[in-house]
Amino acid sequence: MDECIFCKIIKGEIPSSKVYEDEDVLAFNDISPAAPVHVLVIPKKHISSLNDINEENSKVIAHVFVVISKLAKELGIDEDGFRVVSNCGEAAGQTVHHVHFHLLGKKKFTWPPG
Ligand code: 5GP
Ligand code: ZN
Repeated sequence: MDECIFCKIIKGEIPSSKVYEDEDVLAFNDISPAAPVHVLVIPKKHISSLNDINEENSKVIAHVFVVISKLAKELGIDEDGFRVVSNCGEAAGQTVHHVHFHLLGKKKFTWPPG
């Protein structure tokens, strides 16, 4: 997707603070962190939101969660606890239409979310 900001980050057209990269997945620090640890984990393939997950593309989403589990350990948030959020659509406040998972940590979270 030509104008997608996260596709541009994947292509290196927009700089990012990378935390992890492999053939299918990229993780980078959120530009406007909502917690001391705030990493965005995304598939390199453009998928607009959770509304567009299907049998064909679900493998990369499963891999995203393997990466999240590894990163949680590496970032030292696995024992205290962390939160993973994916905003889908307008009501949830999705602003970037390339599916992404916020990995948030080093903060005490409240539930239910606002
Ligand atoms: P959403 O609101 O769609 O769930 O999350 C989008 C996230 O992307 C926001 O937390 C926002 O701060 C982050 N973001 C938007 N543009 C950029 C950017 O150019 N670089 C980085 N690293 N994060 C961005
Ligand atoms: Zn994209």
